Amino acid sequence: MIAVLGAGESGVGAALLAKQKGYDVFVSDLGMMKDSFREELNDNGIEWEEGGHTEEKIVRAEYLIKSPGIPETKLIAAARANGVEVLSEIEFASRFTEGKIIAVTGSNGKTTTATLVHHLLHGAGLDVALAGNIGDSFARCLERGDHGFWVLELSSFQLDDVQGFKPYISVLLNFSPDHLDRYEGSMEKYVAAKMRITKNQTSEDHFIYWEEDAWTKKNLEKVKANKIPFGTLSKAKGAYIEKDKICININREPLIMSIHELALQGKHNCYNSMAGGIAAKLLGISNDIVRDCLSDFEKIEHRLEPVLKVYGVEYINDSKATNVNASWYALDCMTRPVVWICGGVDKGNDYEELLSMVDDKVKAIICLGKDNAKLLETFGDLVEDIQEVDSMGDAVKAAYKLANKGDAVLLSPACASFDLFNNYEDRGRQFKKQIRLL
Ligand code: ADP
Repeated sequence: MIAVLGAGESGVGAALLAKQKGYDVFVSDLGMMKDSFREELNDNGIEWEEGGHTEEKIVRAEYLIKSPGIPETKLIAAARANGVEVLSEIEFASRFTEGKIIAVTGSNGKTTTATLVHHLLHGAGLDVALAGNIGDSFARCLERGDHGFWVLELSSFQLDDVQGFKPYISVLLNFSPDHLDRYEGSMEKYVAAKMRITKNQTSEDHFIYWEEDAWTKKNLEKVKANKIPFGTLSKAKGAYIEKDKICININREPLIMSIHELALQGKHNCYNSMAGGIAAKLLGISNDIVRDCLSDFEKIEHRLEPVLKVYGVEYINDSKATNVNASWYALDCMTRPVVWICGGVDKGNDYEELLSMVDDKVKAIICLGKDNAKLLETFGDLVEDIQEVDSMGDAVKAAYKLANKGDAVLLSPACASFDLFNNYEDRGRQFKKQIRLL
């Protein structure tokens, strides 16, 4: 029997796949399950419980699949002590694919880069699917059918329990402090979780990384895969930016293209495009296709998404910027004076990193959160105007009054959204709705 702890998207996906592969499955959730998941398990004849775990049953399982986000509890320790193999959903699913895996992780840019890699492979006519932290879980997608290539977006939580997972290509974009609460405030532990993406890779596999990232550099020695850097400081072996061109230096014919041709604008997105371009070229995709796909990629919602121009003011939705680093890159891209809407649930933010950027680019700040004390204290003296609001309607109205023709209004909160919104998507959609009401 396979026991699955946690009945979210990963747990239910793993249960469906396990059932399809002929296992008896038991799903156990400490909280209450979503109705749709309950129905799905019932429809597939999968036994489940909610509101608690039946320990006797779980410690007798053959395997225990642990959903990402569940910490190492006494129950899990008891199962391990009883000889139960504890696996993550990603690990379990990866045992059932014949396809090549391209796995993408990092603190910021995972969704953008994974979606871009999928677009590149799809554009080349390859049989490819996108799964993981984005949309449907890997296990659920695999239950529907295998593919020649899998692009997986992976969070550090999904990599926590990786033992034998072995991607053909791994991409590690960057590290910035995020989710440290889960790692006892230890950056080392957070980094170690993400580095597990390379754990089982050999010299026949590839590891694509940002050569300027100090945390990645510290851990490079342990990586056995073929290491391919991208960056801006030197003519990096894999890809680099020189003046206004990127050069992807894989295979005999490097691909050189102007950064203005790239669909994704901004420095951070140049990194994402280089990482994606390297992965595509490693898979033998031609320069022409890589060039086309890097230039016709459609922007993803809530990531520096242009919304509307109203009386010469550009409104930009970057609601997915839930940490300081992401907002830094958003502000870096701005070419107009910015009215910046920020704030929300602060995950231990260090706003000092933004001081010179804000001084340079921002004319007014609108703090949209329940507790704005830290923002007011850090930026209060730096900008012409700083205001507090507690609804998106008021935020957009205030921005409208403050912005002049030629300015930009940027929602890039640097914070999580849970104080005033359901999630970052809800925050971004409310922003767009309020703009349309202007
Ligand atoms: P993730 O899936 O890792 O959260 P997303 O692609 O959804 O990443 O982007 C999250 C936020 O980070 C957005 O605000 C986006 O503009 C910004 N971002 C994207 N790529 C990078 C990068 N390489 N470095 C820093 N910030 C980035």
